[in-house]
Amino acid sequence: MLEIRGLEAGYGPAIVLRGVDLSVPAGRLVAVLGANGAGKTTLNMAISGLVKPRAGSITFDGRRIDGLAPPAIAEAGLVHVPEGRKIFPNLSVRENLDLGAYRRARGNKARNLERVFATFPRLKERVRQMAGTLSGGEQQMLAIGRGMMAEPRLLILDEPSLGLSPLLVEEMFALIRRLHADGLAIMLVEQNVAQSLEVADDAHVLENGAFALSGTAADVRADPHLQRAYLGL
Ligand code: ATP
Repeated sequence: MLEIRGLEAGYGPAIVLRGVDLSVPAGRLVAVLGANGAGKTTLNMAISGLVKPRAGSITFDGRRIDGLAPPAIAEAGLVHVPEGRKIFPNLSVRENLDLGAYRRARGNKARNLERVFATFPRLKERVRQMAGTLSGGEQQMLAIGRGMMAEPRLLILDEPSLGLSPLLVEEMFALIRRLHADGLAIMLVEQNVAQSLEVADDAHVLENGAFALSGTAADVRADPHLQRAYLGL
């Protein structure tokens, strides 16, 4: 579904990504793991059209998307839920969700809204509340709910567990598991290596802008380097 080949990207003279290859097949949950500064955000921004690749290709359903503008990429069904819960704090929960309904999904807004409320009953209870007054966990739910309003075919989750308490992190991973069980393809970008490997089908470990390790989540978890460097074993 998503195919990245030989991707190079950076900022000005600084090269951050050096030859990244990545596949996310339909219905699969692929984790991209890495420490601070490894290049995870840059990879996401390149996929979403916010950073222009210098080399390589990104195709989605066989169509080149590198070089397209971000709205066109979202319109194709590749929906990015950014880190840091970038919701609109001065708009209500409902208004934030409405903004997620892109052109393609606009006709199904009522149905999609029901789906989001079924997944996140807490958002339904708070439709009129200003988003900025939601708890951290609720804001993260809202960010994912807004992504779901766009009818994603592939959902990119950027560090969804960042800044959540341990209990909410558990809830977040349970939710990711549920979205995946419903058949959604997910690219999960995370620093939380242990829990991501539990939910993922495949995993890639980004170090200094290139994948140091790629394989099934089980293979990656069994790797001695990963266990030493990321799991402290
Ligand atoms: P984190 O988990 O800390 O967000 P990350 O894996 O997402 O890290 P990136 O944000 O992709 O890493 O950053 C990779 C490298 O690119 C870092 O060295 C960072 O300083 C650099 N970088 C990021 N954004 C810019 C920018 N706008 N201009 C110049 N360099 C940047």
